[in-house]
Amino acid sequence: MKGYKKRQLETFTSLGTSPDEWQICELVGIETDDKGREIPIFRAYPGYSLRRPFYDTLSKEELDALIQDHEINSESGEGWMNSCQLCGHNIMYPWKIKHDKKLFLMDIGSECITNFMNASTATVSKEFKLKVLKKEFKSWKRSAVNECWNNHKHFRHDEYGDVLTYGRENKPLIQRKYFKLQEELRQLDTDDVSYRKISGLFKKAKKLEIKIPDQVDKLIQTKKPIKTKLKRIKKLSKSRKSALDKFFWK
Ligand SMILES: [Zn+2]
Repeated sequence: MKGYKKRQLETFTSLGTSPDEWQICELVGIETDDKGREIPIFRAYPGYSLRRPFYDTLSKEELDALIQDHEINSESGEGWMNSCQLCGHNIMYPWKIKHDKKLFLMDIGSECITNFMNASTATVSKEFKLKVLKKEFKSWKRSAVNECWNNHKHFRHDEYGDVLTYGRENKPLIQRKYFKLQEELRQLDTDDVSYRKISGLFKKAKKLEIKIPDQVDKLIQTKKPIKTKLKRIKKLSKSRKSALDKFFWK
């Protein structure tokens, strides 16, 4: 671990920078690949140049071989698709960091974000999602409340939201769900809400066939990565010998 950390530090130094001068680029979106893995999308920074210190340490043949590997893997969706420019480790989807004084950008892996940016990518991505969900909620709330109302207005409720007058068979339960959701939507305080709570409300609404904003739909449907599949990919990548193995520090 010592050698690995040393290597990361050396890379920052080789660019004439120190770790604390770098920041994570601003997230503008999070997409999901077909295996449920998150792909972070970052704001563009015109005038900044992309630094690739790890690639710069490779010979032309090594770099070509590595990039070809990445391309093949990107097409099949299996195996590593990028390299962390800070430490050389194989990664899936890079995170971008920036150095404002020197106008540098660099692609690095989430582990290096954790080690050097003092932040976890899981937290950063959750914070981003929460921000989007809160913003979308404010403009969506009125129509959602109306839709709930339209779906239960023909029923009278007692003070607990229980349906007093029944319609067709099985209907009351559904009506009550709309009524409850409507109350929850009304009472939600967006200044003090957790990701879990607000995403839960959107999911509930979707289940009741209330239209939710596309952007929200995309963000909350993040599937859990299929563990066995990931294991297999790791195994595959491990067993595959390449001329570049010597660059991947332990
Ligand atoms: Zn790294």
